[in-house]
Amino acid sequence: MSGYSHPYWLEIPALKGSLDQPRDAEIIVIGSGLSGVSTVYWLQEKGYTDILLVDYEAENAASFRNCGHILYGTVESMQALTALHGEEIARKLWALSIDICHEVRDTILRHKIEAQYKQDGYLVIAIDESEEREIQQSIALLNKNGFGSEYVSREKLEKMGFRNVHGARFEPGSAQAHPTLFRNGLLEVCLKRGLRYHSGVKVTAVDEVRDRVRLTTIPWGDLSCDAAVIAANAYSPLLSDFFAKHRLVEPFRGQLITSKPLKNHKFPVRYPHSFDHGYEYAIITEDNRLMIGGWRNRTEGGEIGIYDIGVNPLVEQGLKDFVETYYALSEEVEWEFSWSGIMAASKTGFPFIGPTDSQRIFTCSGYTGHGFSWAHGSAKILADIINGDPVPDIIREKCNPRYFQ
Ligand SMILES: Cc1cc2nc3c(=O)[nH]c(=O)nc-3n(C[C@H](O)[C@H](O)[C@H](O)COP(=O)(O)OP(=O)(O)OC[C@H]3O[C@@H](n4cnc5c(N)ncnc54)[C@H](O)[C@@H]3O)c2cc1C
Repeated sequence: MSGYSHPYWLEIPALKGSLDQPRDAEIIVIGSGLSGVSTVYWLQEKGYTDILLVDYEAENAASFRNCGHILYGTVESMQALTALHGEEIARKLWALSIDICHEVRDTILRHKIEAQYKQDGYLVIAIDESEEREIQQSIALLNKNGFGSEYVSREKLEKMGFRNVHGARFEPGSAQAHPTLFRNGLLEVCLKRGLRYHSGVKVTAVDEVRDRVRLTTIPWGDLSCDAAVIAANAYSPLLSDFFAKHRLVEPFRGQLITSKPLKNHKFPVRYPHSFDHGYEYAIITEDNRLMIGGWRNRTEGGEIGIYDIGVNPLVEQGLKDFVETYYALSEEVEWEFSWSGIMAASKTGFPFIGPTDSQRIFTCSGYTGHGFSWAHGSAKILADIINGDPVPDIIREKCNPRYFQ
């Protein structure tokens, strides 16, 4: 396992906070990835002004280490969602996921954030016949419930530069963006509105103490607030007993490689695409690099329970071989970047949005791979909850962090 893994997206550095001692605040948000910054943004939209944002080892955040996909749906296909939860819940969840993706787009447009955002669709590619059948069933269910989605034949996929593939499902509404540019741009909006942001604050515990919340931190000791938001996703169990005790999220490591820019090869599909039930996922960057991640399901243990962001050479090689097998390329690919990041698998399959065991300690977390859109949208719903505003039924029914009570 090699040491530090540098993501392509961090060629644009992550904006960092002050290293001075932070002061108490009305609300403290822990985590400056897409969830934390989005939570601050939506709370400010509601009129909250006294907010402190803290982070620790910010560059390790999954928010700078993903594949830039902003996808309708969840990590499960519509067929799998329906089998797991029934058609009504699957339909509501899909509709909510669309709203959530559109929140990202609308926020980018509202603040003119230069985030290389493109709503150019998503291709879900089958690599065997059984997956192709699942894709056909998903398309039928989606169309029946009024969602646009269409079948792409093997012949068409071959013309689009793939090989050894079966059919695919095209999702026209999904999108892509540069995650660091989006997060930095949103953070700048929050800072202009008066956010206090401090980096290098390691939170080790979050407790309600006599109608206040106490954060235990290194190196600054205790911080106090009226309410805290745990927006640390996979890292939440390391700083919250509630997460650790109920094992709400399980960390798992995802890994990506990115080529040097290809000089002559033109990729017919530049937008987000995935293979093998989403286990491999890819995109073409603005400067014509192939970025591809996944392959963890082929490793012993599936990279579950890991916080080390080194790169696993077996996964790296697996991804390179995958490209050889499934892409028809007219020039040799030279690989330049290789990195990993830690995601959070939700115990229930739904994100957790709302209060924890304390009415003053909230979270939005647990996106199981689809966090770009869900982080921004879940944070908006969390701001509604904190402000006492109405939220969709499905959130109360399925995304309650106290689901086991
Ligand atoms: C390889 C990979 C590929 C992915 N691809 C996609 C994709 O294409 N599309 C998609 O939608 N999602 C994707 N994801 C998932 C997505 O990136 C995450 O779900 C999302 O970024 C989570 O954002 P977050 O802000 O909740 O958590 P993170 O971005 O992980 O941020 C966690 C924050 O918590 C802070 N923190 C942690 N511990 C402490 C502590 N003790 N004290 C203080 N602060 C702390 C960190 O500093 C950080 O700011 C991918 C993830 C990975 C790893």
